[in-house]
Amino acid sequence: MEKKTRLAILGSTGSIGTQTLEVIRNYPDKFEIDILTANQNIDLLASQALEFNPNIVVICNAGKKDALENLLRDADIKVMGGIEPLNEVVARDSVDMVLSALVGYSGLMPTLKAIEAGKDIALANKETLVVAGELIIQMAEKHQVKITPVDSEHSAIFQCLAGENYETIEKIYLTASGGPFRQKKEDQLNNVTVTDALKHPNWNMGHKITIDSATMMNKGFEVIEAKWLFHLEPRQIDVVIHPQSIIHSLVQFVDGSMKAQMGLPDMKLPILYALSGNRRLKTSFERFNFIDYPELTFEKPDDKKFRNLYLAYYAMEKGGNMPCTLNAANEVAVNAFLKEEVTFLQIADLIEQSIHQIPYIAKPNLEDYIKTDNETRDFTEKLIKK
Ligand code: MG
Repeated sequence: MEKKTRLAILGSTGSIGTQTLEVIRNYPDKFEIDILTANQNIDLLASQALEFNPNIVVICNAGKKDALENLLRDADIKVMGGIEPLNEVVARDSVDMVLSALVGYSGLMPTLKAIEAGKDIALANKETLVVAGELIIQMAEKHQVKITPVDSEHSAIFQCLAGENYETIEKIYLTASGGPFRQKKEDQLNNVTVTDALKHPNWNMGHKITIDSATMMNKGFEVIEAKWLFHLEPRQIDVVIHPQSIIHSLVQFVDGSMKAQMGLPDMKLPILYALSGNRRLKTSFERFNFIDYPELTFEKPDDKKFRNLYLAYYAMEKGGNMPCTLNAANEVAVNAFLKEEVTFLQIADLIEQSIHQIPYIAKPNLEDYIKTDNETRDFTEKLIKK
């Protein structure tokens, strides 16, 4: 019998984490859970732990450790509290693969530690590659670690490239749904509310990524993510709006031929493809029906309305620490929008000012990234308080 893959799931109570466990539940002979971690939600983490029986659970909010221990008092599961344990548990001998589904910058350090320990990575935390893509890819090569994307677009590209030579890529097209504001005019975005922005037409996701989808920063991040994952130049990456979210992305090769990966929008597919080491396992997921989708349509993204997408292209072309600045400013701005401290259109204003004001570093090392992240957060927060 084939050996089971032993998993560490970072962020098990979030949207990707819970869907991952749903997937794993159907393949008890293929996967085993060694570690589960969550930020806050001890009730869900405890019930997941009781079902999947990991060796260790980590609750990042250390103040909730005692309560979690109490919930798991009858189980033989080690409970750890705080952010630091994430960096240790990913390196355990008993872990084969780390699924990183943390939100934002917090994903960087544990992913780096997992790579250093030689663990394969299923990467749902795209910010890790946005902030420090060059460093992550270098480290992955050095430690011979495979990074498989758990982002529907990148999984699509990855699937299109199976059996192909990366040097024959002419360009890739990342598809975007256009989010909840695709049909609004720029001036109509002035007074959209948090509730409006959280209504994504096709995908059910966490709050941060849903706002990033509404501003299209999510697509900008995906462009940067693609650059690193597939070794592309910025001019080789294009974005096309495809409101039905059936074509998950496309590759165009040097002979002009194109390959697309299609299917119903369901994150469980890219999750399973990554966890299974890019093999096709049988599923009972709902199947696509052509008659339900008589039209697949395409549009160009509006650059005045979706300024964040173009700020991301700008930061990618400048390189260095600028994508790290872009990410930190975006995290602060999105948070402030969710708390109704800034308007929807101010998100792009804050990011634009931040990327132009934070000192540029052409060849950043890890300390530079950490410093840039801190500096940017302070700077953007001050702009908001003005
Ligand atoms: Mg995506």
